[in-house]
Amino acid sequence: MSLPSEPTAEQWAAAVAAVRSAGADDEVQLFCHVNPDGDALGSMLGFGLGLRRLGFTRIRATFPGDFAVPSPYAALPGADLLVPEPEAFADPRLVVVFDVASESRLGALAGRLAAAPCSIVLDHHASNTGFGDVRLVDPRAAATSVVAEQLLARLGVELDREIAECLYVALATDTGSFKFDMTTVAVHELAARLIATGLRPGEISRRVFDSRPFGAMKLTGEVLGRAVLEPAAAGGRGMVWTWATLADLERHGQPPYVLDTLIDPVRSVAEADVSVVVKQVAAGEWSVSLRSKGAVDVSGVAVSQGGGGHRLAAGFTGYGEADDVVATVRRLLDEYLN
Ligand code: 5GP
Ligand code: MN
Repeated sequence: MSLPSEPTAEQWAAAVAAVRSAGADDEVQLFCHVNPDGDALGSMLGFGLGLRRLGFTRIRATFPGDFAVPSPYAALPGADLLVPEPEAFADPRLVVVFDVASESRLGALAGRLAAAPCSIVLDHHASNTGFGDVRLVDPRAAATSVVAEQLLARLGVELDREIAECLYVALATDTGSFKFDMTTVAVHELAARLIATGLRPGEISRRVFDSRPFGAMKLTGEVLGRAVLEPAAAGGRGMVWTWATLADLERHGQPPYVLDTLIDPVRSVAEADVSVVVKQVAAGEWSVSLRSKGAVDVSGVAVSQGGGGHRLAAGFTGYGEADDVVATVRRLLDEYLN
């Protein structure tokens, strides 16, 4: 499958023109996806700070659902731009969307996007469904923050330490701390320019990656302890999976986002190409994380279930019992590989 191409010169120009056509006192609304991660929040807040530097005075940033900012990101510069979903501008002049592969990831806010006189979509998912007026979707970009930085540069915004910290957190989270295949020369060059503003990578890593409540560690231990390895699954390439319920979270007094990184130890299992974590979000509803080491395009599996993502990292919402969801994944993998 050939990747869709990066944004054209016309699309970049249209995005710049869209921002410049808004007045400094016009309402600008920024959106990122439900259950926001480091790239969603980092690219959105970094860009929001850039708009502030350009003189915009009425900027709000939000995401659908509970107003729960994962604590690793709560202290990001620009976090003062964040408002709960009900406080999003009702009728903004400009909407800018970050890291959203499909409108379903915006929940009820998708209507606000469609109604806006102008919208710009910044994203890097190959599965992006194509929505919004101006589309800056670059599947070769390691993070949405790479696209955000390019647009800021074209708008004449100079990187400062606060903007850089947001973009760096986004870049570091989506590249798995500069470990994934997307970690190109250009990624390191961008990281170097961000670090040159004076930010402290060690400090940021400790806060974002290496700090969590004791209860989260105990919960992780329990959920990892029940993982199942199926060497014959995924056409003999192996699948490893585990699950976590709302009751597990409650027992350890933890919010759902502490499970966002649970896939990382699971996907390290050497005997499996595919890893799966099934996380309960409501009765009979599960958020499913899929990873592959290379044998499977897991975004194909996710898209077939109404989700999306990247070739080696994708997700979808599954229904029924956790076992049913895993059975569906097992079947789709066998279909894909046989
Ligand atoms: P994660 O497993 O870390 O939640 O997500 C991995 C990748 O899949 C991310 O790029 C994320 O945007 C995408 N993804 C996860 N869940 C969904 C979903 O329900 N729908 C879509 N469209 N993408 C998803
Ligand atoms: Mn991303």
